[in-house]
Amino acid sequence: APQLSEEFQLLLTWADQERKLGVRANADNPDDAQKAVEFGAGGIGLCRTEHMFMDANRIPIVQEMILAETYEQREVALSKLLPMQQEDFEGIFEAMQGRPVTIRLLDPPLHEFLPDKEELLVEVTKLQLTNPDSEELREKEYLLRKVRQLDEFNPMLGHRGCRLGMTYPEIYVMQAKAIFYAIAKGLDKGIDVKPEIMIPLVGHVNELKEMRQLVINAGVQVEEETGKTFDYLVGTMIEVPRAALTADQIAEEADFFSFGTNDLTQSTFGYSRDDAEGKFLQSYIENKVLLENPFASLDQEGVGKLVETGVKLGRGTKPGLKTGICGEHGGEKHSIEFCHKVGLDYVSCSPYRVPLARLAAAQATIKHELKQSVSELQAQK
Ligand code: PEP
Ligand code: MG
Repeated sequence: APQLSEEFQLLLTWADQERKLGVRANADNPDDAQKAVEFGAGGIGLCRTEHMFMDANRIPIVQEMILAETYEQREVALSKLLPMQQEDFEGIFEAMQGRPVTIRLLDPPLHEFLPDKEELLVEVTKLQLTNPDSEELREKEYLLRKVRQLDEFNPMLGHRGCRLGMTYPEIYVMQAKAIFYAIAKGLDKGIDVKPEIMIPLVGHVNELKEMRQLVINAGVQVEEETGKTFDYLVGTMIEVPRAALTADQIAEEADFFSFGTNDLTQSTFGYSRDDAEGKFLQSYIENKVLLENPFASLDQEGVGKLVETGVKLGRGTKPGLKTGICGEHGGEKHSIEFCHKVGLDYVSCSPYRVPLARLAAAQATIKHELKQSVSELQAQK
């Protein structure tokens, strides 16, 4: 268990009295959720469900689902995944004891789930030479064709986020049902669960509209089945520039926004988030082309402008719209100050950064209020 000294705990409770920003944590398993609570997180701001699919026991079932030839085959695979997902969520809800939990529906680059193309090719070639009439060869050839169809040059700009939900709605339906069954279980145990279901990588309001309806329908179905009523939100990540620029339309379909500043930084600068930091970005910073690494500290002039625009447009449509941030920046001091300034409701960061975020949020309030008092005093003079 984490150890914070008594003095530090006291300091943090003072900080909590001052800060306006909520502080949540990014967590996708019960242990991290527990840690988040111990560090003082008010909820989970991002539960990335793709990590749950990466489990060694589940990858074969996920592959079975993606590579299925028929709808029925896909349903069989999904029905195996559903109880596992339900258990994932039950554990997290239990750890969070009624605190809000933002669950993001699946957002992987698809290739992470596929068998390795090169290895398959070697196997096919071998079989062609040694066993050309075999059933095994036909199966492997089919698999290779399928993998090639799904293969992409730029997976991070490709078939991920809600685009996956649009082409495989059954996956999102399965996840939504697992969430609702887990709420029902929680209610039985006296835990009042209010999940915030989040759709990733939305760029057009129609994507959100469709995915939201899918979630709502799943909710109705499980409500009828269990005889319970669920209290939940459906919202969206704002993580591509188009979403920020059309946030007024997107807000019509969203109960909340969460800014994914990792992807938003990538797509605003056009820098690959997987490559830039290890490559040219270092020399950019050394040579003062950029003063800071924009993946670490929010670029306030560009990416930040999109965040600010998103908040303003969203709240123009829905006054008081709940907004948060769940990119890495949510745990960085200067970015947190910016989040306070543009009026976000909360930041979400790794559990270990929660104490820092609580302090930084309080500092931001105090600094802001001091500035206001100074300008009021100057105006009176
Ligand atoms: C983001 O893009 O900022 C985000 C939180 O999502 P992920 O890092 O999982 O893409
Ligand atoms: Mg993202």
